[in-house]
Amino acid sequence: MVVGDVSTGTEVLVIGAGPGGYVAAIRAAQRGLDTTLVEKDAYGGACLNRGCIPSKALITASGLAHEAGNAEEMGIHADPAVDLAKMIDWKDGVVDRLTSGVEKLCKANRVNLIEGEASFVDEHTARIAHGGEGQGSETVEFEHAIVATGSRPVAIPGFDFADDHVWTAEAALSADSVPDRLVVVGGGYIGMELATVYAKLGSSVTVVEMLEDILDPYEDDVKRTVRKRAEALGIEFHFGEGATGWSTGPDGGYLIETETEAGETSSYPADTVLVAVGREPVTGTLAVENAGIETTDRGFIETDDRTRTAVEHVHAVGDVAGEPMLAHAASHEGIVAAEVIAGEPAALDQQAIPAAVFTDPEVATVGMTEADAEAEGFDVAVGEMPFNASGRALTTGHTEGFVRIVADADTGFVLGGQIVGPEASELIAELTLAVEMGATLEDVASTVHTHPTLAEAVMEAAENAQGQAIHTLNR
Ligand code: FAD
Repeated sequence: MVVGDVSTGTEVLVIGAGPGGYVAAIRAAQRGLDTTLVEKDAYGGACLNRGCIPSKALITASGLAHEAGNAEEMGIHADPAVDLAKMIDWKDGVVDRLTSGVEKLCKANRVNLIEGEASFVDEHTARIAHGGEGQGSETVEFEHAIVATGSRPVAIPGFDFADDHVWTAEAALSADSVPDRLVVVGGGYIGMELATVYAKLGSSVTVVEMLEDILDPYEDDVKRTVRKRAEALGIEFHFGEGATGWSTGPDGGYLIETETEAGETSSYPADTVLVAVGREPVTGTLAVENAGIETTDRGFIETDDRTRTAVEHVHAVGDVAGEPMLAHAASHEGIVAAEVIAGEPAALDQQAIPAAVFTDPEVATVGMTEADAEAEGFDVAVGEMPFNASGRALTTGHTEGFVRIVADADTGFVLGGQIVGPEASELIAELTLAVEMGATLEDVASTVHTHPTLAEAVMEAAENAQGQAIHTLNR
């Protein structure tokens, strides 16, 4: 049989096997729907292969080396030698384990897997082009489709990702050496996480950011805490400057050129430049217009709160459907899409979607800030607990930052929280559960927390919001 002649049918066609797509496919199969998942590259998508997991592996490894080398106060004198090739091998091992796990889970749930690139032919047909010369294509007829094609890094004029010294985040996660001088263009979460990794591995790091601070849109005191620590790690910041290009430097390296809005130019020496200015949706080769779907000016697919596009039987989830462009949001959307297709009353809950930044210290938020809650007309009760008053934080040597809890003063309902400090990405789960369940300050404050733990700071912040804190002065 000629490969190009194959034609199959499926109830649900999922395009893209990142955290949006593979989760959607498994949930659809669990609901008894005949489900086909198409992936053109690697199972697990950007998250497992080029994003969340590899970056967190290197954040852990570089953090360990840095901690060990900076623990004299605790009586530890060490000068750890970093073998970058081994570190990257270890990271690759973690990634391989997880990506093969995704494939096995899909198979175990009876999801049909197809390797190839999908594009729409019409509202109920997709063509899958198999990779490699002469591999042909096949046609899949579907009743429902879920587009989960993700995103890729935005390129900027003057920087070509094909040049060895111009890194995407992916290149930074698979480097073969630590550059002496690294310029990071973009002080968002990806830029800041990787700036921290390379500062800890010994690079001299300069961050260039067009805005006036890092980590837009977090609150000022959150940004300040991360920036001060980054500066203590030796990271240099230049705000209000956009990178325009590079030239060859006098010492064989490069000069990264920038310009302010007023036209003032500067240049910073570098051996490598990491461009991390944002991500854009992957819709280019999908031919969504053949399915009757229009994309926005920036290429995103618009959806409703049940993940449906303008064409009701075609859903879009994850980064391709826009903010929040986060792995757990993609998975949540994937589950909603599958359940809606299965006829269940599922819908998105945007209120309790947390976000975390794995800088040093970490940042994590959920729900409303104080300003958001005031803008929504709430009489707001706010409580805080600084980590320098936490016994457990002191025993870890990491005391920067705070937990802030935001609640409705009238009812006590927890509306949101912001954490900057050690293990913020873990601690936010408690506040996320509180927002999701409609818990009150009283619920959080009267829950007995293990001592000594960082989580006690969440309880203390809730007590503080009630004017009942024991270990801090009440507001
Ligand atoms: P993706 O993960 O991008 O997956 C899309 C998949 O679709 C890809 O595998 C792609 O090959 C496939 N595909 C595309 N087009 C086609 C086609 N036509 N046919 C077949 N297959 C196709 N998020 C967090 O929540 N926490 C973090 O700590 C975090 N860290 C990050 C660090 C970095 C460096 C980066 C780059 C991202 C990070 N993210 C993080 C973001 C996270 O990776 C994304 O939000 C998430 O991967 C989005 O999932 P998705 O399923 O929408 O898309």
